[in-house]
Amino acid sequence: MKMCDNARLEAIVNSVGKNYGHDQIKAQFYPFKELKSTWKRNGSQLSLRVSDYLRWADEQVVEDYACSLFCRMKSKNRRELYGEAFKNWIQSKEFVEKNRPIYLQRSRNLKLSSSGSTFNLDEIRYELEESRLIKNSSDAYLTWTINGNRNRVGYCSVIMKVIAISSVLDSPSVPSIVPAYVLYHEMLHLEMNSEHFFTGHGSEFRRRERMFPKWNEAELWLKKIAKERVTCGDTSFIRDVKTK
Ligand SMILES: [Zn+2]
Repeated sequence: MKMCDNARLEAIVNSVGKNYGHDQIKAQFYPFKELKSTWKRNGSQLSLRVSDYLRWADEQVVEDYACSLFCRMKSKNRRELYGEAFKNWIQSKEFVEKNRPIYLQRSRNLKLSSSGSTFNLDEIRYELEESRLIKNSSDAYLTWTINGNRNRVGYCSVIMKVIAISSVLDSPSVPSIVPAYVLYHEMLHLEMNSEHFFTGHGSEFRRRERMFPKWNEAELWLKKIAKERVTCGDTSFIRDVKTK
């Protein structure tokens, strides 16, 4: 497939931009970590930086994306309204194959391994699939983080199909239901978003989340973990003790 270069990108956004009242647009691809774009206005000149994940998209997709950008600029509507070509491309296998390796390279806090010192995320995934809590999810890339965050214990990029679990949960002092519950939560995002395209934590999401056995026990553990602190260079938890 032909790669779209900066000159081609600029030609496409200028031809689409005319319909939205723009006649001088500078555009270039930019290596943002997330798929996003930014714009600046200088008099009548509009400058765009467009996510370079679109380099491998065909022209119809870039046109679709440009339309959605101009719509958002005009209406100040922050909601992302994408056309069919863009939606199909972003949910395609090809998109993930081309762009996920780049996304992983740009994500600095990922261990790039599902195997932790205590828990293996692939084994947990297998158990979640076996218990039919989630559908087949072999296209998802699972990894532990390098630095453990206590409040943001899981993260998922729906479009890149990457799930990262905080290394704070990879500890013998944490019961296995906790990383399993967090992984389940993130996998639900992947599963439900592929059907409905970018949904949040709606009532249907919460209903599915509550299907996890012992979800309330896992929630209590997460609250506890968020309050605890860790000794420097040590992964074992210590309790905060009130001193007089
Ligand atoms: Zn969530």
